[in-house]
Amino acid sequence: MPKPPVLIVGAGIAGIACAQALRSAGVAARVVDGGRKPGGRMASRMASRTINGRTVDLGAAYFTAEPGTGFGAVVLEWAARDWPPFHAAFINDVPELTSLADDGDRRGDAAPVLVAHATAALAREHLDDPNGAIAPAADAVQRMLGLTDAPVRSFAHRWTFARPAAQHPEPFLLANGIGVCADAWGERSSVATAWASGDALGRAIAGG
Ligand SMILES: Cc1cc2nc3c(=O)[nH]c(=O)nc-3n(C[C@H](O)[C@H](O)[C@H](O)COP(=O)(O)OP(=O)(O)OC[C@H]3O[C@@H](n4cnc5c(N)ncnc54)[C@H](O)[C@@H]3O)c2cc1C
Repeated sequence: MPKPPVLIVGAGIAGIACAQALRSAGVAARVVDGGRKPGGRMASRMASRTINGRTVDLGAAYFTAEPGTGFGAVVLEWAARDWPPFHAAFINDVPELTSLADDGDRRGDAAPVLVAHATAALAREHLDDPNGAIAPAADAVQRMLGLTDAPVRSFAHRWTFARPAAQHPEPFLLANGIGVCADAWGERSSVATAWASGDALGRAIAGG
């Protein structure tokens, strides 16, 4: 007879480990937590405790994971980075991808996470089914980095409005009391262009 579902109160590492063990054994489990977010004393990103918007870890600063233990095996899986060190790269000669970034490197937590940006052609093919782009994109990443294993987990995000349809040479629009600023106002779509457009519009309104 199947075991009844289990309610776990507390989403700290202990509660999460318990839920994982239950799930692996085929027992349904629901985790609830009275805090603002899961993690308990290991949680970070506490909205009320950021400094200049930056996440701060206030609880556990380190943990130990002995080789040969269950926790050790779990942590080894977290740490599995089997690609050569790199920060990020533009890609010019692969039909599926335009760039690839090592997210664990840029965040400084060494998480084995890669973020690949699809070419417009690949994205267009899968507009109605973004997950369909995962396999060709993951294949391309594997080819490029010489990885033998497929990703443990993958996720596709569709940026419906990734780029402006056209660029305006002017830095912003300001007409009839309405201002428009964005990355479409300037030479090319970029963070720097968007900042310059917003800054210029703000100055124009303030000075007008
Ligand atoms: C400041 C600090 C520094 C630390 N530094 C380290 C370190 O460097 N290395 C290390 O190994 N350990 C460290 N620890 C200890 C480590 O963080 C804890 O041992 C571990 O995270 C405990 O996990 P837990 O799941 O048992 O409990 P918790 O992480 O406390 O999780 C319990 C969860 O249950 C929730 N909860 C409790 N009661 C209820 C309720 N009635 N209803 C709903 N939800 C509830 C809480 O909101 C919480 O999310 C530190 C602890 C602190 C506080």
